[in-house]
Amino acid sequence: MGYVLSAEGLVKEYKGFRALDGLSIHVPRGAIYGLVGKNGAGKTTLIRILCALQEPTAGEYALFGVDSRDRAVTRVRRRVGAVVEGPAVYQELTGQETLHIQYQVLGRKDFDTIPVLLEWVGLGNTGKKKVKNFSLGMRQRLGIAVALAGEPELLILDEPVNGLDPQGIIEMRKLLLKLNREKGVTILISSHILDELSRLATHYGFIDSGRMVEEVAAACVDESLEQHYMKLIGGNWDA
Ligand code: ATP
Repeated sequence: MGYVLSAEGLVKEYKGFRALDGLSIHVPRGAIYGLVGKNGAGKTTLIRILCALQEPTAGEYALFGVDSRDRAVTRVRRRVGAVVEGPAVYQELTGQETLHIQYQVLGRKDFDTIPVLLEWVGLGNTGKKKVKNFSLGMRQRLGIAVALAGEPELLILDEPVNGLDPQGIIEMRKLLLKLNREKGVTILISSHILDELSRLATHYGFIDSGRMVEEVAAACVDESLEQHYMKLIGGNWDA
């Protein structure tokens, strides 16, 4: 099986507390892989490690088959885009200017493709509007456009629909499905909104207390995600 991302035995300790406790994960190419877990289960810690924003205490992961401790991983990281803990975008710029800067950072000179990218994420008509006047949903989609400027094969999104209104959630869903189906981008996504996640995901990873409890294809889950998760871990979703 071709995994774009895999990890075994990941551990992250904070002063004796294990946020990740031997976690493993396997994300198949072409999947929309939903991370399911209660508050504090370790989703953000995992995502931060995969994006090299944090070092694991122990364990390893591989991107496109390249081990995270191998020097070549720097090169394959260019095939990964991410929006973690909200989009990092400047308030005073327009969408066009934001992407212009990102293109420069990446050494891309084909600035004429920026309107196409903006159109792709549903921001084609934002013109001179500054980011500070964007809705949260628009800002999230701009964050995704910034991540897409590197033409990633894997997109990692931490809670992309958090705080969005119903319309914003629907637009985000359409965008992610389009990216997956038309551009073949593999997506790793964490979300608290299980009902929404179940409309998107082709695979799930159920996380509890820093461990992967089950990885499964979406087609194999024939009850609500909440019910399934509760059966796996016992207990209460809100507890
Ligand atoms: P949420 O959905 O609430 O964001 P999560 O599944 O993303 O939860 P993490 O943010 O990964 O969970 O946190 C996992 C555990 O690690 C939590 O108990 C959290 O309190 C703890 N933790 C995270 N960062 C730190 C830190 N810098 N220092 C100490 N503990 C931390």
